[in-house]
Amino acid sequence: MPSKTVVLKGYAMTDPSKWNDLKVIEFKPKTFAADDVEVAITHCGVCGSDVHTLTQGWGESKLPLVVGHEIVGTVARVGDKVTEFKIGDRVGVGAQRGSCLECRECKDDYENYCPQSINTYDAEYPDGVVAQGGYSTAIRAQERFVFPIPDEIESRDAASMMCAGLTVYSPLKTHGVGPGKSVGIMGIGGLGHYAILWAKAMGAEVYAFTHDDSKMEDIKKMGADHIVDTGKKDFHKDLARKLDVLLSTRDMFGDKTSLDHYLSMLYVHGVFVTVGLPDADDPLPSIHAFDLVPTGCLLGGSKIGSKKECLEMLELARSKGIKPWIEELPMSQAGKALQDLKDNKVRYRYVLTQDIA
Ligand SMILES: [Zn+2]
Ligand SMILES: [Zn+2]
Repeated sequence: MPSKTVVLKGYAMTDPSKWNDLKVIEFKPKTFAADDVEVAITHCGVCGSDVHTLTQGWGESKLPLVVGHEIVGTVARVGDKVTEFKIGDRVGVGAQRGSCLECRECKDDYENYCPQSINTYDAEYPDGVVAQGGYSTAIRAQERFVFPIPDEIESRDAASMMCAGLTVYSPLKTHGVGPGKSVGIMGIGGLGHYAILWAKAMGAEVYAFTHDDSKMEDIKKMGADHIVDTGKKDFHKDLARKLDVLLSTRDMFGDKTSLDHYLSMLYVHGVFVTVGLPDADDPLPSIHAFDLVPTGCLLGGSKIGSKKECLEMLELARSKGIKPWIEELPMSQAGKALQDLKDNKVRYRYVLTQDIA
């Protein structure tokens, strides 16, 4: 195949001191491989990861950098070995665009845990090309990390499922959430709102934990069975040993959170799982063995999700007609969306629509 020089465009950070002042740049896409799919982007959600990366909270990022990993668009090109997609198909790409496909994890449908995973942005390919994200015209990803979007789900609704939706679906599924189980959700933002929607659809009893009065009406409409105001002293006491799973989407802990209070709400062998990733200087609050041993509870994490789980999640959304709570903005307003997200003003996810000519 003759090698074409393709130049893509995206909204990039060029100076971390102006982290959300994004400028259109041209960039070189990854070298096209036989198992790659190129997607012409129509929509991209705005994830907390974008803020942590741009503000350098997770460490120094590459420059210039285009973020965005909740991508939906149409297939524009397929490699010779691609069997699942054809040009024109509507597809999504999430927070991961590649892995080795050969290790134990990849073979066990745990490709999201592959030690050679390639993140959708702020990563580097072995040949030196920098992976740029979805606030852009197009992206190339390995077929394994491209997800077919069912006809019944609109692109604007599918976009934020690619990271936020999948990141909470995976641990809910892994830890057996379903009828007869009680699930607590900490942090009701983009991820947390999906966790409520999915956990209800899976048949569980849902407890939403928030200290934000302005979200309580929304949380009821999302279907939570119980809203727990964490601003109230001793909020955890009535819920001692009630929960089978406690999912934390919080990406900030600070020194005020008493993790022991949360752990005390877990039933025997209950699981606390964090999917939120705070800044590097914000560790989990300290706990003592006394917080774990009396109920045999477990502490863990979860990283995005696999293709298998993504397809299940999309089928759940399709079959039950589940729609996320989103606001759309043109991609040129990504800076505003990022600032609102940093200021906790989003209800509950921004989705950017393509506007680079
Ligand atoms: Zn994300
Ligand atoms: Zn692998």
